[in-house]
Amino acid sequence: MVLKSLPRIERLDLAVITLPDWHPEATNQPTAPVYGYVIVHPDGPILFDTGVGFGNDFIDEVYEPECFRLDEALGAVGIDTSSIVGVINSHLHFDHCGQNPLLYGTDVPFFVQRPEVDEVERDRFYTDQAWALPPIAQRRLIDGDFEVTEGVTILSTPGHTPGHQSVLIESAEGRVVLAGQAVWELGEFVEERATASNVFSGAYHDVAIDSVRRIKAFDAAAVFFAHCAAHRTNDSLRIAEQ
Ligand SMILES: [Zn+2]
Repeated sequence: MVLKSLPRIERLDLAVITLPDWHPEATNQPTAPVYGYVIVHPDGPILFDTGVGFGNDFIDEVYEPECFRLDEALGAVGIDTSSIVGVINSHLHFDHCGQNPLLYGTDVPFFVQRPEVDEVERDRFYTDQAWALPPIAQRRLIDGDFEVTEGVTILSTPGHTPGHQSVLIESAEGRVVLAGQAVWELGEFVEERATASNVFSGAYHDVAIDSVRRIKAFDAAAVFFAHCAAHRTNDSLRIAEQ
């Protein structure tokens, strides 16, 4: 099922992180933006990624994040946090799920790939577990693609992590993909490359490229990312200015 027209999609500027010296990208760029998105769907707003959270001393020391509050970022685009009807995390690293807890204890569902939760539970250094893991009652564990609601489909796009996922928004007038960290920077997407620093392990190199090709095959008017500028093929669509 597709929507008649594309819903409003807003970018949320949620944080700026400083890349530590040992980070492979640190010499190219000392800091990186952290973007989330909100899909203003007729059923209610759906959130994609929640930025960096507050109060983790290790992350504060290593990444020196400048964090912006999720509720304020939503408010700036006219959305009340209490109206959110679903959360999709691209993956569960600290800079994509950090403000999930703002919606813990509600009945808002969190859609997450099963291998991603497995990784959080397997490796305690993978992320901040208190940010990453929703209460059991709010978890919607999925394996692969999943239609969340009319015109909004989660795409399994592993590579950066085992359970990385993207979101396809489909309407009669075109498509948009929210691709999270399927790539670190736009050049990887355009040239169909996977850099070692952005893939989970060497075993995921080809998987990551397959995910990029999968996203590109939808021929979306725009593809939005978590840490870099958007890719556009059609500026005439009514998409929020980024
Ligand atoms: Zn990540």
